[in-house]
Amino acid sequence: MSIRHTSGPLTGTQRITGKLLATQGYVVGIEISGSGARQSVALADLDGNILHRIRRPLEYVPDTETVLALIDEMLTEVTGPEQLRNGRILRVGIAVGGLVDAALGIVRTLHHAQGWDNFPLQDYFTERLDVPCIIDNDANAAALAETTRGVGVGERVVLYVGMGRGIGGGLVVNGNIYHGMTCTAGEIGHILVKEHGPKCSCGSLGHLEAIASAQAIVRAMIGLSVEYPETEAAIRRVTGDRAERITAEQVFRLAAEGDKIAQHIVNEVHTYLGIALANIVHLVNPGMIVLGGPVALAGELLIAPLRARILELCLPAATQSLRIAQSSLGTDANLMGAVTLALQDI
Ligand SMILES: [Zn+2]
Repeated sequence: MSIRHTSGPLTGTQRITGKLLATQGYVVGIEISGSGARQSVALADLDGNILHRIRRPLEYVPDTETVLALIDEMLTEVTGPEQLRNGRILRVGIAVGGLVDAALGIVRTLHHAQGWDNFPLQDYFTERLDVPCIIDNDANAAALAETTRGVGVGERVVLYVGMGRGIGGGLVVNGNIYHGMTCTAGEIGHILVKEHGPKCSCGSLGHLEAIASAQAIVRAMIGLSVEYPETEAAIRRVTGDRAERITAEQVFRLAAEGDKIAQHIVNEVHTYLGIALANIVHLVNPGMIVLGGPVALAGELLIAPLRARILELCLPAATQSLRIAQSSLGTDANLMGAVTLALQDI
């Protein structure tokens, strides 16, 4: 980063590098999910504490106009004059649940959502709000948040695995997100784990996401239960007769209680997630794998067998200092990721 020479005398607070060196003000974090389930806006102080937040889910997969209008509304509420008593907004960070080119500031695509292909989201918000804006993939942002203010603090090589509707991954090395050449590094949901396996959101067969995402787990449970009355009854019992609302976490609990169908599904998750992560461990040798998103709410029911599986599949030297942990930011990880993006270099 180059030193900026100024003609006047330098004072202690003067900006002499590309960094903001701010002591007061705010940042805004915005979360845009590919599924429509989560659109959030948060106002945070410069220590990353969220002061005010709003979350508006949509019941359908959103197009750009719907999402941007919704975020506009939320921004107005979150950044009103009464909220900004201690300065102005210095930067905006946006975590997007799709393919993002962080270097160019564009959304490449959100699977199944309309109007996002090559959308210049960074320019849109920079112009709209008149402050610098940083965008990235939501799992990348969550990975950064977990290493900055979550369970991965102090770790040099962290792999974050976000297991929600899809599966996203983010790799943080020495405090920086590793993007790769075209910003697709970490797209681990599309690793092939089972040839001729179930169909993935991208259209291919046998990808990790098609087996171990929350949506895949829930679909398999509901689909298979049709032929197993005991499982169907168990689903009705834990969902209050609203089977369609069953969560991945509940499938793990039913497996632990002995339901054979749930056990089969959970076993598939451990088997194929284990294969994917063991392969990644041999490539990048991480110090920590952080599991986040709705599937990770199953906690040790997910992690303990997975840890055993990875240890079994990996060279001992590759896992010598590996820890596998549940996200400490939980369902806030993506939004905290957006805030963390905004706070970089401030
Ligand atoms: Zn795929």
